[in-house]
Amino acid sequence: MYVLGLETSCDETGVAIYHSEKGLINHLLYSQIDMHSEYGGVVPELASRDHIRKLVPLIKQCMNEAGLTSRDIGGIAYTAGPGLMGALLVGAATANSLAWAWRKPAIAVHHMEGHLLAPMLENNPPSFPFLALLISGGHTMLVEVKGIGRYHLLGESLDDAAGEAFDKTAKMLGLGYPGGPKLSELAKRGTPRFKFPRPMTDRPGLDFSFSGLKTYTMNALHDTAQSDQDKADIALAFQTAVAETLSIKCKRALQQTRLDKLVVAGGVSANSVIRQSLTEMADKEQALIYFPRPEFCTDNGAMIAYAGCQRLIADQHQGSVILARARWPIEELPPV
Ligand code: ATP
Ligand code: MG
Ligand code: FE
Repeated sequence: MYVLGLETSCDETGVAIYHSEKGLINHLLYSQIDMHSEYGGVVPELASRDHIRKLVPLIKQCMNEAGLTSRDIGGIAYTAGPGLMGALLVGAATANSLAWAWRKPAIAVHHMEGHLLAPMLENNPPSFPFLALLISGGHTMLVEVKGIGRYHLLGESLDDAAGEAFDKTAKMLGLGYPGGPKLSELAKRGTPRFKFPRPMTDRPGLDFSFSGLKTYTMNALHDTAQSDQDKADIALAFQTAVAETLSIKCKRALQQTRLDKLVVAGGVSANSVIRQSLTEMADKEQALIYFPRPEFCTDNGAMIAYAGCQRLIADQHQGSVILARARWPIEELPPV
């Protein structure tokens, strides 16, 4: 079965086609980053309008390139949340309109389940059960995964998400939006001069807190002449603190759950220092580690097409309900 996947939860319009046996057929992404960077962050109303402009042409292009017509498509998967309501509604309404016109089922996909399952698109996918660390612009979660839709939340951020912390810290350092990749680029030139704390690692539990690192950044910055080298040194201290904190918590979660596989996904998992730090930790713990390819760490249509395909195969679909949820706890998902 060919499944068309649509992603419009934030600032990227993603379209992909996944086939239940042949795997990923095609995927296209249009990023709105240039439009939002002028404002230093995502402007929700502009995001919705741009999804309206880009989504249908991107669907046409994706199907044309794959040599497929509407008759070939077995179902349509769309991101139904969590995300920006207006942006979500564009994908949800488009998916349901196509489903109605083509007489095919539509399936609402949880955006974080999409991120979580993204490593399944790689050559050597993990088998269940595994531990998942989801680190993105809006979420930081440790999840015990027994199967698709069988999620137990072990810990999450009590304040800023990991990606949000990267973006806010980058902003303080005068870097543009989104700051994550820019901050990590700057950190390459940094020297290990500052030591930032590893928040919440000195007490038990698997929750995270990243907002305190902003204060450290601010204070460190004010104590220097704010030269390029000072900023690079601070960027390095921040990135090292996040990478080590994530590794400490994942190690604790692996030991606690006795799981021997770790999946790391979401935009921040594109960060090479974080990937390396987690890989070294997993090696020591004798656990296998899995990441999506960098382009599938951030938002994309492929992960939505994949997740939707698994649920459609299990006969799940949304009927004629157009589902869009700004907030949607991952534990509420039905098992497959
Ligand atoms: P969510 O998935 O929680 O709804 P989102 O979809 O906005 O949020 P993603 O697209 O998964 O988030 O990831 C974007 C985030 O990843 C941004 O905060 C960005 O700064 C961060 N990011 C991307 N690349 C890197 C990198 N190399 N290093 C650090 N952070 C990065
Ligand atoms: Mg984005
Ligand atoms: Fe995302």
